[in-house]
Amino acid sequence: MVAEIIINSAVKKLNRVFDYNIPKCLENSIYVGSRVLVPFGKGQKLVQGFVVLIKEKSEYEIKDIAKLESEDLSNEKIEFAKWMAKRYFCNVSDCIKLMLAPGATSNNQIKEKNINLVYLAKDIEDIQEDLKNNIVKTDKQKRVLNFLINNDGIIMQELEELTDTTRSVIKTLEKNGYVEIVEKHIDRNQFKNRKIEKTTKLKLTDEQQIAYEKIEESIEENKYNEYLIYGITGSGKTEIYLQLIEKVLEKGRTAIMLVPEISLTPQMIERFIARFGNEIISVLHSKLSMGERFDSWQSIKNGKSKIIIGARSAIFAPTENPGIIIIDEEHDNSYKSEMSPRYNAKEVAKKIAQEKNIPLVLGSATPDISTFYKANNGEIELLKLTKRANKSNLPKIKIVDLRRELANGNKSMISMELYNSIRQNLQNKKQTILFLNRRGFSTFVMCRDCGYTLKCKNCNIALTYHKSQEKMKCHYCGYQEEVAKICPNCGSKRIKYFGTGTQKLEQEINKLFPNASTIRMDIDTVTKKNSHEDILNKFKNDGIDILIGTQMIVKGHHFPNVTLVGIIAADSSLNIDDYRAEERTFDIIVQVAGRAGREKEEGKVIVQTYNVDNYSIKCAQKQNYDLFYNSEIKLRERLKYPPFCDIIMIGVAGPEEDNVKKSSQNIYEYIQEELDKINIDNINIVKPMPAPIDKIKNRFRWRIIIKANANDTIIEALNKALSKFYIENKNSNIRIIVDVNPTNMM
Ligand code: ADP
Ligand code: ZN
Ligand code: ZN
Repeated sequence: MVAEIIINSAVKKLNRVFDYNIPKCLENSIYVGSRVLVPFGKGQKLVQGFVVLIKEKSEYEIKDIAKLESEDLSNEKIEFAKWMAKRYFCNVSDCIKLMLAPGATSNNQIKEKNINLVYLAKDIEDIQEDLKNNIVKTDKQKRVLNFLINNDGIIMQELEELTDTTRSVIKTLEKNGYVEIVEKHIDRNQFKNRKIEKTTKLKLTDEQQIAYEKIEESIEENKYNEYLIYGITGSGKTEIYLQLIEKVLEKGRTAIMLVPEISLTPQMIERFIARFGNEIISVLHSKLSMGERFDSWQSIKNGKSKIIIGARSAIFAPTENPGIIIIDEEHDNSYKSEMSPRYNAKEVAKKIAQEKNIPLVLGSATPDISTFYKANNGEIELLKLTKRANKSNLPKIKIVDLRRELANGNKSMISMELYNSIRQNLQNKKQTILFLNRRGFSTFVMCRDCGYTLKCKNCNIALTYHKSQEKMKCHYCGYQEEVAKICPNCGSKRIKYFGTGTQKLEQEINKLFPNASTIRMDIDTVTKKNSHEDILNKFKNDGIDILIGTQMIVKGHHFPNVTLVGIIAADSSLNIDDYRAEERTFDIIVQVAGRAGREKEEGKVIVQTYNVDNYSIKCAQKQNYDLFYNSEIKLRERLKYPPFCDIIMIGVAGPEEDNVKKSSQNIYEYIQEELDKINIDNINIVKPMPAPIDKIKNRFRWRIIIKANANDTIIEALNKALSKFYIENKNSNIRIIVDVNPTNMM
């Protein structure tokens, strides 16, 4: 028999199958999905590969498979990986790896963590008898047995240390039948030993009940359907998820729930543990250690875990019989991968739900514009929750015009209105959150005489000033240099720091309110030791007055004592070169506002902006998603942006500018050729152009943008055009990235 094998490699030209002979001795143990070692390439080095097909014979002269590593995946999973590779323009092996246990393909394989426990193997009286009669000879053996008589069932290592013996002494006792050594699996589950009070299901409100029953129908009838639960924060979406999961478990199936990485806080997970206990819940996300992820993976795979809660990649968790997939905060960007494979977890989830005939449930207070469009068209079933389940009020949002502040001579980052509110809040011993979506001290540094801005020498992008280290840093490549005292262009000493960042904001707050305590949270303060979680806990528990932070602060936590939220520059997300700028601005304001006054006390939100007339800001002030959607969808239709088409971005990058330009032109022509063959209307290809950031890490960047419905026919045509380019440019240093509806257009 012969196996078709895909080599585990991201190299584009290896994205094809190679035939290998299955040796007789392995014939009964190799299946589609098996991971094997095969001799490959010049030195016939052994490399990893995956079996994707088994057939009778090959037309080539072929080598033998050298070794079977494991039987990992089913035929179904391999087919899924093939579909993904096409759809997301990457190698099949890249997709297979998403479906394997953490660390499965690395050299040092992760293992289950086991410990050895030592127990007495005879009755205590018999042992005492033997000790008395000197049948047990050495002092060491006696010490061990005496110790065990009082402390039966101890970890081997501890026993050695406490009785000052060695492993061989214990082994001898085992041989003589006095003790028994039992190997035990340790679950590296961080919630294992936490005591959490149990909760039972709440009586659903009428709106919740209606939503629940619709989705329940799909569970009962084993039918695929996509739902959107659209309801503001606190409207009881999570309670519906909990009850749906309970239903699914009753049917003997499992549940997958995706949440944005950043909202995977212990509080969120505890809510699920409180309902279902921690035995059947597994958490999967990138902040866990490899060992922790491995253990979660194993307990899902062996069926012990029934509920999987995780970030984007948890959609690939190895559960065989999911009964529901839930995607909370479905508008969140983190569901789209920005690394190869550039998949969208929502699309992947939909495909799985369709194959398994189960419901896919999306939830959001501010749905993705495209999702809401589909919900209005009936392509997704819309389930609305209009009231807050716990009856708390929405905060009041006030807009402050920064142009007027400037006209009144206030050049600081804090408007009078915000200043007064912070002062008041401090007097009332309440907490404040200030949000600014820019880290660092100043956005950029410019010469007042010649207008020169300091740019990164590897990337065509302005450097950011970091005051604490007195350094200029590039946020794209990490390059840093000393702060310039004179302009490198004209020699002037009149250097000005423009823009604002979180560091600068903190400094200004410390100056304005010297007695207030502050804490800052952004990529620069969040480290391994000082996690996102730690900073938020500190803010909450140590009674710190003001939290200053970027995007990171908007999700997850619940701060009962926060009654004021200030958005320092609502415009920062408006001034980006992206068709979703308005959507992001609206989402951020609504989400940040949601941090204020979630208890009885009413919250106040102050939004500072230079664009008081912008509709995303106006709609956010009213916290009216429908109003925003109605304006936004008209604009998208007129300008032809998603959901009225998909945006396919083909990025071409390389170290030589001419070559990048020439290759882009080639690819463009190949694409034209392929598209001509299939004859599709409503397609718009933009000629190759330099990307908005035209150089990153010394690689020049060009791109081709296609606006069209990214259906299978177009995907196929693009794949063909690219293979043609790869075949003709085997050893080129050009890197091509194809991204369907990218999150970042830069
Ligand atoms: P969301 O997920 O939409 O933000 P939650 O499910 O977290 O909303 O509900 C918000 C609050 O209201 C929670 O404290 C929750 O326990 C409570 N709650 C939800 N549903 C009900 C209900 N049917 N009856 C009483 N309280 C509820
Ligand atoms: Zn200058
Ligand atoms: Zn750089």
